[in-house]
Amino acid sequence: MTVVGTTWTAREGMLFSPLLESVGVVAGFTTRAQGSMAGSVYPLDEQARNRERLAQRLGFSEIARVKQVHRNAVAHISHAVDPWPVADALWTERPGLLLGIAAADCVPILVADRRSARIGAAHAGWQGTLAEVAVALVRALLADGADPSSLVGSLGPSIGPCCYDIDGDRARLLASQSTHLDEREGRVFFDLWSANAAQLARCGVQDIEIAGICTKSGGQDLWSYRARDEQGRYGTQLGFIGSRGRRPD
Ligand SMILES: [Zn+2]
Repeated sequence: MTVVGTTWTAREGMLFSPLLESVGVVAGFTTRAQGSMAGSVYPLDEQARNRERLAQRLGFSEIARVKQVHRNAVAHISHAVDPWPVADALWTERPGLLLGIAAADCVPILVADRRSARIGAAHAGWQGTLAEVAVALVRALLADGADPSSLVGSLGPSIGPCCYDIDGDRARLLASQSTHLDEREGRVFFDLWSANAAQLARCGVQDIEIAGICTKSGGQDLWSYRARDEQGRYGTQLGFIGSRGRRPD
């Protein structure tokens, strides 16, 4: 098992995962340049149009979403459906379907199977990490027949361990994640990246990439819930993964 800190590549106003692109899938994260994708501050029809435009631009006819509630349910998706299933992770084996997971500070977790068309996406903040949504997603792929040794995973931009301080109540709830908590200057910081990489590794995922881009301080054109403006406004990016067709074995 290897964990690499390969930063994601900026291209066409988006950020892409080098590890997942190397296994033949389209995978990355939108920026402000594509507009908000799923927050509540911007008009819903505008955000729907932004998602459609994104899918078309990336060469997909459909984009599937879930209604995210910061827990660990996993939805198996064959087509984009309305209303969206309530889940915090989704997966498919159908080429041509783009999976989207909304995030402003939560970490997008994107997974692909090197030997099949299976792909998945999840998001995790402190609640999703505690509920082990990354583990739930990988287990769903394994239950469908994926071999853990052929899975690769990438953690996209999110609030980083540089900026993610949490209050005492949350720190107590996260005591089981103690190796990913750091106390500095009287505050407790949580490392979403190492905590979720550890969950993927525990499931047997062999190659794991951490983008290492902080949504608040990382210098990219990203919205951050923690860095919302004085009116409390922020938009939402979309982590995305899709397979355009049959991939090489
Ligand atoms: Zn930061």
